[in-house]
Amino acid sequence: MNRIIVWHRRDLRLDDNTALHHALRDADEIVPLFILADDILKERDDFSPACVRFMLDSLEELCESYKCLGGKFILRRGRFLDVLRSVVRESDARGIYFNEDYEPAAKLRDACVKKEFSSLSVKSFKDQVCFAGREILTGQGNPYTVFTPYKKNWLSQTGNISTPVAAPNCLKTLDMPSIETPTLKDLELDAAIKPLTSGGESVGKKTLETFIERKIERYKEQRDQPSIDGTSLLSAHLRFGTVSVRRVFFEAMKKLGGATASAKTSIETFVSELIWRDFYFQILDNFPHVERESFKPDTRALKWENRDDYFEAWKAGKTGFPIVDAAMRQLHQTGWMHNRLRMVVASFLTKDLLIDWRWGEKYFMQTLIDGDMAANNGGWQWSASTGTDAQPYFRIFNPTSQSEKFDPKGAFIKAYLPELRAVPEKYIHDPTELLQSSPLLQADLKITLGKDYPAPIVDHKVQREKALQMFKELKASE
Ligand SMILES: Cc1cc2nc3c(=O)[nH]c(=O)nc-3n(C[C@H](O)[C@H](O)[C@H](O)COP(=O)(O)OP(=O)(O)OC[C@H]3O[C@@H](n4cnc5c(N)ncnc54)[C@H](O)[C@@H]3O)c2cc1C
Repeated sequence: MNRIIVWHRRDLRLDDNTALHHALRDADEIVPLFILADDILKERDDFSPACVRFMLDSLEELCESYKCLGGKFILRRGRFLDVLRSVVRESDARGIYFNEDYEPAAKLRDACVKKEFSSLSVKSFKDQVCFAGREILTGQGNPYTVFTPYKKNWLSQTGNISTPVAAPNCLKTLDMPSIETPTLKDLELDAAIKPLTSGGESVGKKTLETFIERKIERYKEQRDQPSIDGTSLLSAHLRFGTVSVRRVFFEAMKKLGGATASAKTSIETFVSELIWRDFYFQILDNFPHVERESFKPDTRALKWENRDDYFEAWKAGKTGFPIVDAAMRQLHQTGWMHNRLRMVVASFLTKDLLIDWRWGEKYFMQTLIDGDMAANNGGWQWSASTGTDAQPYFRIFNPTSQSEKFDPKGAFIKAYLPELRAVPEKYIHDPTELLQSSPLLQADLKITLGKDYPAPIVDHKVQREKALQMFKELKASE
């Protein structure tokens, strides 16, 4: 009997799952396995309770899906190698198949697994991305570090993206002992949030369908406005693989046929975001040092001020800059933050509060439902001007004008900062004007700045100059 273990990790689905597809082709019987890794759960430093809840919900559904096909999904808890050793021994499996993961620790772990089980057929497959780290290279055979030529090359090779494979409709699995899916409480975690999307392959499928049917054609005009539900909300599904990135790409491409010129531009803009996702995965895969330090060596000497009180105010959404504070409250309440706002708060932390991007990066991983090392690191290093193809250091977002541009009526701000709901549109982006211009109006609105809502903790103009100086000093010492 040829038995193969299908080790699920960031691919909590049956649809278009490369490792599963190959195992079903090669084996008489499979052992679908997920390991709740004590090594990871103990750390508690770089993941959020919200994302664990998303994962547990997804595991629950995966277990049911296998059951519906007459199979059994095996959930075990322990250290990776210990669990794999026992499952191999108990099942007498001849192989272990899994989908590739590009995070440095995961690559190390997978190399250990390949070494440890070298007498078995251990195979890994590309699944998490459309193109892996060494597939899109420059003419000289090097990885790209600039997005635009990477994107051009990526788009010229879309014919090589494999067509999604449907979920199996029957399979044979080995019946083995498995644990119940734990609750968050069992893991001593608590996520008091109302997520915008929950875990599970069926939710991922529905989220994709809704986006393709109702939102993709207006994506370009709506994606930058946080008060509008205009983006796909697929990030956590892509993070945990409850949806296949190839499926997302092909569904978007199908929509191109018959699309109007503006819908076509929107669809292309969306595909471009999927390319950014691949781009950051290949950066992490080819330049793993970005996990710990700036991609650009010269920016490693930046003299961040790193004030704890500023960091606490930023985390708490109490900076006195409404768009920043509303964004941070969205993060706390839903585990998700709109992309435009991720850029705004990241710029604010690094270039207004002069705090090391790694502090913000870590905090995002501890709070986001879609926390993903590649995209998060890429986003933070872009904002801090330390990364590959990053925002030039002298381009510093003004939080007030970002707010005026992308939340013109303050609808988003008011949704997350109820204490400012009565503030007229004119003052919503910068309530200090309200403070300076009209104490009477403040009384009318029953708002006292500094009491009901904080006065700004910094002066943007002053901080901007300091940030420029911090970068210029680098240049001077080169
Ligand atoms: C500072 C910062 C931190 C970020 N951290 C994360 C993170 O931890 N996890 C994460 O998935 N994304 C992260 N992003 C990227 C982006 O903000 C989110 O992917 C997006 O907001 C998710 O919402 P959506 O699924 O509705 O996106 P959509 O706009 O619908 O985009 C579709 C998909 O494309 C991918 N994508 C979109 N924008 C980017 C981008 N700039 N970089 C890489 N992939 C992208 C995501 O997988 C997303 O689900 C970060 C961006 C910044 C600026």
